[in-house]
Amino acid sequence: MRISEWLKLLEEKGCVEAIKGLLEKIERSELNAYITVCKNEALKLAEDFDKGRLRGKLAGIPVAVKDNITTTGVRTTCASKILSNYVPIFDAHVVERLKAEGAIIIGKTNMDEFGMGTTTETSYFGVVKNPHDLTRVAGGSSGGSAAVIANGEAVLALGSDTGGSIRCPASFCGIYGLKPTYGLVSRYGLIPYANSLEQIGPMANCIEDLALLLEIISGKDERDSTNSGRGFVFRMEKISKIGIIKNMEAEDSIMDKFYEVMNNFDYEEIEISSLKYALSSYYVIAMSEASSNLARYDGVRYGYFSPQLSSWSDYYSRVRAEGFGEEVKRRIMLGSYALSAGYYGKYYLKALRARTLIVDDFKNAFNEFDVLVSPTMPSLPFKIGELKDPLTMYKMDVNTVPVNLAGLPALNIPVGFVKGLPVGLQIIGNYFEENKMLSFAKMIEEFS
Ligand code: GLN
Repeated sequence: MRISEWLKLLEEKGCVEAIKGLLEKIERSELNAYITVCKNEALKLAEDFDKGRLRGKLAGIPVAVKDNITTTGVRTTCASKILSNYVPIFDAHVVERLKAEGAIIIGKTNMDEFGMGTTTETSYFGVVKNPHDLTRVAGGSSGGSAAVIANGEAVLALGSDTGGSIRCPASFCGIYGLKPTYGLVSRYGLIPYANSLEQIGPMANCIEDLALLLEIISGKDERDSTNSGRGFVFRMEKISKIGIIKNMEAEDSIMDKFYEVMNNFDYEEIEISSLKYALSSYYVIAMSEASSNLARYDGVRYGYFSPQLSSWSDYYSRVRAEGFGEEVKRRIMLGSYALSAGYYGKYYLKALRARTLIVDDFKNAFNEFDVLVSPTMPSLPFKIGELKDPLTMYKMDVNTVPVNLAGLPALNIPVGFVKGLPVGLQIIGNYFEENKMLSFAKMIEEFS
């Protein structure tokens, strides 16, 4: 559902009735897309709206928030047992912005544990199902946010994208999702997985809604030292040169669909050779940062704790052994290994060097092109349980992680169906050129 459709509903029934209808829909849903539904808070705000007390650019609009973004008084779990009882005492910057514009936070969405995954199967709260086929995954890690948008269980949603976690589920669920330029949106209140890679971004059912949500969440925030201070205002821009990254690939049926769309435009093909290092350097950097970020979960200050007290090191080990899932443990171990004396130069520093090569290659490419495009995901949504070994799963991020390594903006736009399943196209822009990406997305939309 788009904002314009929701506003019509508000006019017809009023906000309380509209929100009640939405809550019933969520209750009946089989998708498992929400971890927490904010029923009472949402109804109270709906009442305020009907009495004319809720104002702003998002007044009365239900927004879903990924469960790694803090919300005062509402449990924020990162889909992990270790944070399953954590109730934050502060709002993330983006949540403050939503509230200031009168949005109704309808619930917190399911995700891969701490954002680590591509299918939302690593969640402690169970897998999210794909609205287009309940036997398949919704993508990850922001699988819940994408599924609720596709299924009309919210009008807008926030996700986070460390290596593709907005674009992958957007592609698998057939919706729009945008990962902003690094530094455009404050990460204050985003529980970190890999800080140097991740951004919070909007997910929606059309380009205008996506752009509006980005306008609201972007901008200056001194609490995040990597925040650029820049804001974003949507306007159409001229696109003169389009490049297809020919070494970003997908299975044949997706490539056919991709070229069916792209053949409506003049484009050139470009090969970015350093992309062959992207997956390995991404996983070394992401796991290294994760191993350091997740050291804070000690079962003492907040989160899951064990009643059995023992020595500090036994206690710390037990809480973490019980509180983290398998994938998170794997990454903490691999990350600690890559950062340890003797291996640091061999893995971590090398990954940083590869990252610089990728940044330079993209900079050169953007001297020539306004936007670069590729298929978002190399394959269609998998069956639940189909991806068994971690390496095969990591490989699915091949087209999305280069963007995070370079800090560039990128979005997923749905371009149709193959075998009844959604296919997404990725548009990558130069730093802070979200408007060019969105303008090209609009051109594609007009053709299809
Ligand atoms: N699938 C990638 C990973 O597991 C990306 C996840 C994300 O963007 N949070 O690291």
